[in-house]
Amino acid sequence: MAASMDNIRIVLVNTSHPGNIGGVARAMKNMGLSRLYLVKPKRFPAEDAVWRAASARELLDHAVVTETLDEALEGCGLIIGTSARERRIPWPLLDPRQCARQVQEESSQHPVALLFGREDRGLTNAELRKCHYHVHIPTSEDYSSLNLAAAVQVIAYELRMALIEQGSVDRGLVRDWDVEPASNMEMEYFYEHLEAVLMQIDFIDPVTPRQSMTRLRRLFNRVRMDRMELAMLRGVLTNVEKVCK
Ligand code: SAH
Repeated sequence: MAASMDNIRIVLVNTSHPGNIGGVARAMKNMGLSRLYLVKPKRFPAEDAVWRAASARELLDHAVVTETLDEALEGCGLIIGTSARERRIPWPLLDPRQCARQVQEESSQHPVALLFGREDRGLTNAELRKCHYHVHIPTSEDYSSLNLAAAVQVIAYELRMALIEQGSVDRGLVRDWDVEPASNMEMEYFYEHLEAVLMQIDFIDPVTPRQSMTRLRRLFNRVRMDRMELAMLRGVLTNVEKVCK
């Protein structure tokens, strides 16, 4: 099946400067992307956004504004977070080209989200923990942080190049899975359930719980569970709860 640019969401989290939102809209339209999601922007709609968007104004008009990141991720089967620097616990990491190939393969099957962070401090660890992969744009070691719209431009350009490549060579890499992937919200409910059970059986100490859940999230994000597999694990957790009562 052909990859679909319509299934690719660019999600900007908590953007401070509306000019950057406009710059992102323009970068997206140049590269053939149209789905812009804004999670709690500081100021939007705004004149500077329209000004910077130039002929990409309609992307701003159709932008989906949400209160929470989870709302913007609704229905997405693949979530990729961008990061300007290394984080404490390493996560499966792609470069922009690998990211584009992954997105190409999966966007024919389900919506895909690419997350971009705040101008001053990027994405929080909690936001990055929701991602299946992280992507880092290689830069000079002296200064690794690109302007937000410039970062979107690089990632979107690679998506464009992957699309062109895919048109000329059918690499036949698209997997035909029998069950839909678990959605972001289903995974969030699963993690809540898992954490509660792990506390109940004294595996997690409620006083110092955080690191184990991060590692477990990373494990399950690598596995990419489908709905049926997730339902089985929820069933296992429910039975553990029954036995422990
Ligand atoms: N000071 C912040 C950088 C924020 S830059 C930090 O240390 O995280 C704003 C956003 O642009 C980032 O959240 C990310 O989405 C994107 N970005 C900037 N530079 C990037 C890079 N080298 N690789 C990937 N994304 C980058």
